[in-house]
Amino acid sequence: MLNFTVGPVQESEEVLEVGAQPTPYFRNQSFSKIMLENEAMMKELTFSDEESRVVFLTASGTGAMEAAVMNSFTSDDKVLVVNGGSFGKRFVQICQIHQIPYTEITVPMEEPLTKEMLEPYDGRDYTGFLINMHETSIGKLYDINMVSEFCKKNNLFLVVDAVSAFLAEPLNLSELGIDIMLTGSQKALAVPPGVSVLVMNKRAVDRAYNLDVRSMYFNLADALKNGERGQTPFTPAVGILLQIHRRLEELCKAGAIAENKRIADLAADFRKKVKDLPFRIFSPSPSNAVTAMIMENGKSAYALFELLESDYGMWICPNGGDLKDKIFRVGHLGALTFEDNDRLVEAMKQALERL
Ligand SMILES: *Cc1c(COP(=O)(O)O)cnc(C)c1O
Repeated sequence: MLNFTVGPVQESEEVLEVGAQPTPYFRNQSFSKIMLENEAMMKELTFSDEESRVVFLTASGTGAMEAAVMNSFTSDDKVLVVNGGSFGKRFVQICQIHQIPYTEITVPMEEPLTKEMLEPYDGRDYTGFLINMHETSIGKLYDINMVSEFCKKNNLFLVVDAVSAFLAEPLNLSELGIDIMLTGSQKALAVPPGVSVLVMNKRAVDRAYNLDVRSMYFNLADALKNGERGQTPFTPAVGILLQIHRRLEELCKAGAIAENKRIADLAADFRKKVKDLPFRIFSPSPSNAVTAMIMENGKSAYALFELLESDYGMWICPNGGDLKDKIFRVGHLGALTFEDNDRLVEAMKQALERL
């Protein structure tokens, strides 16, 4: 199958090879070394400060979202949450469950996040800001520079869910003053799901150490302490961490900027090639990770997904709920090429005639 979904994405031969190996014992020097290298490579790829730390959680991206909130905020905080789709809504639910006072900034589906939407909250008593840099559900990228400026001005603790934005967009944690950035193994890291990664600056590390989190598994202070020697409090997804290691080595060779450009070029190439097809890009601020497209010929987007899957050996990503028949998404993360784009576009042309 050719995989154009937004996760798990197409994996490289090298990553698959590592996955085929038996799982080694991990409470030893050689695994610790791998984990310490994983930490250093993540810091390099995210342009984070020297004293930043990285936690690898055996949990999907949502686990890292929840851990970030639980280990950074208490009921004494007051956070702003950008809600522009299903991932934004997830942060809202996490705040509700953990009783963190919050205000929701709702972004209408076909509008970008603007300065005017933030203005009412400028100079008020907020302490934190939660945002999904890229609202993957509808392919909408937020202006992280604008958000960063706002947070610096208001001294807000900034948590960025970059699960689908890491590597797909320019992202310099140190410059942007991002306190916690989180991502997941099945997006641009292009390995199987199961591990999420939190990159925490000094302020975030201090906060986690000083907060009395009521959780055993999602205790980041415990993870940070164990991580100092390259270990984890509990048995991690050892095999996936080895695949991450392999992938990070590759990425560091070329650098984050080169991978960012590669993904951006793939996205631009796909958009150019579908110009004459009956689709329109849905988002007002599209990302490089995903192209969300709305069907303009009255045919069902979900039927297109099904036909590509059953007859052409390709996966695009359907949407759920009200958007099911209207919108589909094509991902540009992972081991995909321009030729793969050609194959997809050709299959789409044939499928459209048959729908
Ligand atoms: C994929 C994704 C997640 C993580 O979802 P999981 O299913 O928990 O891995 C979180 N946020 C965004 C923006 C995503 O794209």
